Amino acid sequence: MNIQELDQKYVLPTYARAAVEFVRGENATLFDADGKKYIDFTSGIGVVSVGHANKRVADALCEQVNAITHISNLYYIAPQAKAAQKVVEASGYDMQCFFGNSGAEANEGAIKIARKHGERDGEIKRYKIITLNHSFHGRTITTVKATGQEAMHNYFGPFPDGFVYADGIDAIESLLDDHTAGVMIELIQGEGGVEPQDKEKVQKLAKLLKEKEIPLIVDEVQTGCYRIGAFTASQAYGIEPEIITLAKGVGGGVPVGIVMTTLKEVLAAGDHGSTFGGNYLSTRAVCEVVDILNERKESGDLEITSLMFNKALEDFYKKHQDIFIQKVGIGMMCGLRVKDAETLSKIINNARDNGVMVLKAGRNTLRFLPPLTITKEEIDEGFKALTAAVSGL
Ligand SMILES: *Cc1c(COP(=O)(O)O)cnc(C)c1O
Repeated sequence: MNIQELDQKYVLPTYARAAVEFVRGENATLFDADGKKYIDFTSGIGVVSVGHANKRVADALCEQVNAITHISNLYYIAPQAKAAQKVVEASGYDMQCFFGNSGAEANEGAIKIARKHGERDGEIKRYKIITLNHSFHGRTITTVKATGQEAMHNYFGPFPDGFVYADGIDAIESLLDDHTAGVMIELIQGEGGVEPQDKEKVQKLAKLLKEKEIPLIVDEVQTGCYRIGAFTASQAYGIEPEIITLAKGVGGGVPVGIVMTTLKEVLAAGDHGSTFGGNYLSTRAVCEVVDILNERKESGDLEITSLMFNKALEDFYKKHQDIFIQKVGIGMMCGLRVKDAETLSKIINNARDNGVMVLKAGRNTLRFLPPLTITKEEIDEGFKALTAAVSGL
């Protein structure tokens, strides 16, 4: 059996896969089993932030694997403590971290912190979590329910109670009541279609929530770890959330989720935990990824790369006004609105045939989440392939 047959026979069919098998990568360049080359404008949905097969990450992981990969959270774990320090310092917030294994798990942790915090004086049980329509917070039963998309609530119930959806930032205030334990938002909705929130509105909301002592949870699973320029989008928006979640890019390809919070006293020993979370392997990756990106931030390379990518995207957009209606996004989390959904899926398939990987978001957005280390040559080659992909439409 070839790989595709093997997968179809033994793997549950939860993904509509494209018929490509990648075998090797180098920064933003990928090679499939036939030796065909592709430029990766996806980072595997914002994960491989420092590129494929990053030498520094690979070397650090090899060294770690040869020493120790796992014991348990019953003991002190050096790379976990160091990763927490690096993440907290890069954020600039006075927070502490809990390490899990995915974005959904980080958001579960965030909800647990907000709810336990909500029970602090015992009289009123604060349990409601307000999220936004078109949001995406994960695939566990709770985070599916936290996700403000009706279509995702069709099966799997009964769900945990207490999730309330607001139709935009403006609608949150009127939903706040004595039972509200937290408000969870993405500053740029990713899966929802690369939709940045308005900075002033977010700042107003953050201020209101502070006055009411309701924790603001910012889901930075996609926006975090320098994706939009600052370490967190929260810093770029000039707010001080009580809880931030990170995952995707922060492990550079190794599964890791982080919930970080100013509410350091809420969870006590035994309230939360994870077998794998924070182990030597994943947190060593976090240390290396954050170091690499801190250096790129300081040297200015991060900004240069973002400017180069956006310039190329803008040029491409301007040349194809018959197909695209708007350029959206911030930093290296960007997109082009396509005139219709059908054209969008054609572009994605054509792009792959022409050797460039791009993503879909929402109904009609062509999404770009390139590695933050993508080179000028890779950008040029990728847009050349994309130009070829749209010329045949
Ligand atoms: C991807 C994503 C998640 C879910 O992360 P997993 O690692 O797949 O559980 C949650 N929130 C946002 C904003 C995401 O983009």
